[in-house]
This record gives sequence, C-alpha cells and structure tokens, in this order.
Amino acid sequence: MATGEILARKGQMVVMSGPSGAGKSTLCRRLLEDPRVHFSISATTRKPRTGEVDGRDYHFITPEQFRQLIREGAFIEHAEVHGNLYGTLRKPMEDALARGEVFLLEIDVQGANQLKLLGEPGLYIFVSPPDFETLRRRLVGRGTDAPEVVERRLKKAEDEYRERVKYDHVVINEDLDRALRQIRSLIGLE
Ligand code: 5GP
Repeated sequence: MATGEILARKGQMVVMSGPSGAGKSTLCRRLLEDPRVHFSISATTRKPRTGEVDGRDYHFITPEQFRQLIREGAFIEHAEVHGNLYGTLRKPMEDALARGEVFLLEIDVQGANQLKLLGEPGLYIFVSPPDFETLRRRLVGRGTDAPEVVERRLKKAEDEYRERVKYDHVVINEDLDRALRQIRSLIGLE
C-alpha cells in the first residue's frame, strides 16, 4: 500500500565515499555526534584493526559467512575493496529509514554506484582531499601502511577521484569544521 511505501521512506539515506585519507571516517564520527544520525555497520571479511570493535565499526565475518549472506540476499550492495569483501546489510537500512532516521553509509564508489543503479533515493556525497600531495602526506603520516601499500591506495584514490562526477555533491575536506558544516547543511541537520 502507498502509505507503507511512504512510511518506508521517512528517513534519509546519506552515502559518503571518497579516497582513503580524504577524512571520511573522521567526518562520519563527527556527524554521528548528532542523535538523529545512525551509522550503517557494514559486514566485512577484513580483519579488525587495533581499536576496532566488532558490531560497532564493522561486523567482522569470514568469507564463508559473507558468501552465505550474499546467497540469502542480505546485502543491498557489496563489493571487493583492497582484496576484502564489504557489504551493506539491507535490513538495518530499511528499519532505520522506516523509523525516520538519517542513515549514514560510508562505502566505496562501487557500492555507491550499485545503490544509484538500484534507484535508491538518497544524498550521495563525495569527500575529496584538497589535492593529491595532501592525500599522500596524510597516508604516509598515518604511519600504518608500508610504502607499497600507500602507493596502491594512492593509485586507487586517483581512480576513485574520477568517479566524483557521479555524486550529488563533492565536499573538499581542507578544513574539517568547514567540511562538516557543509555536509550537515546538505543533510538538513542545521
Ligand atoms: P576500511 O577497510 O579502510 O575500513 O575501508 C576500505 C574501503 O571500504 C573504504 O573505501 C570504505 O568506504 C569501504 N567500505 C566500507 N564498508 C563498505 C560497504 O559496506 N560497502 C562498500 N561497497 N564499501 C565499503
């Protein structure tokens, strides 16, 4: 019934993508300080990093569990990124949108493309570094990755950067607070 459909679309899906090192995660964390915003906890086959908590940052699962969830149709989108599988679970998203929440997805460009192709209504935001030198400095400065890993991430960043034209908005993260204000206002959280 039409009412059901309207109810199912009460909330707002917000998709954030961008190269690693662009500051997506920090921006997401800041956005989540607003109680109206809820984070989409993806499932992944990647191993947890130090400090990451299962069920808060990701659902860390095995490749077999991931394949089972694909078979069950549990993902609204999924993709392979840097050799690991990542996917957005359909049920939490539908529930959050039905409750009228802002549902925030931090996913890569392949996943965002899939949602666009499905015609998922939402706000698609691409977070961009001011320039590639800054991105390189941020990735090296993290000190968490070996030089060849940094090079691989930079190459992927360049490929992802070309995809920004497919998004509704490109937010350049030169100043964190300014970028945050811009995104909050795009979502309508002011
Ligand atoms: P990380 O392993 O650094 O947390 O994330 C690596 C990449 O995977 C990031 O670009 C992140 O946005 C993306 N990612 C995280 N969760 C998902 C997901 O559910 N679907 C897709 N397509 N990408 C995801």
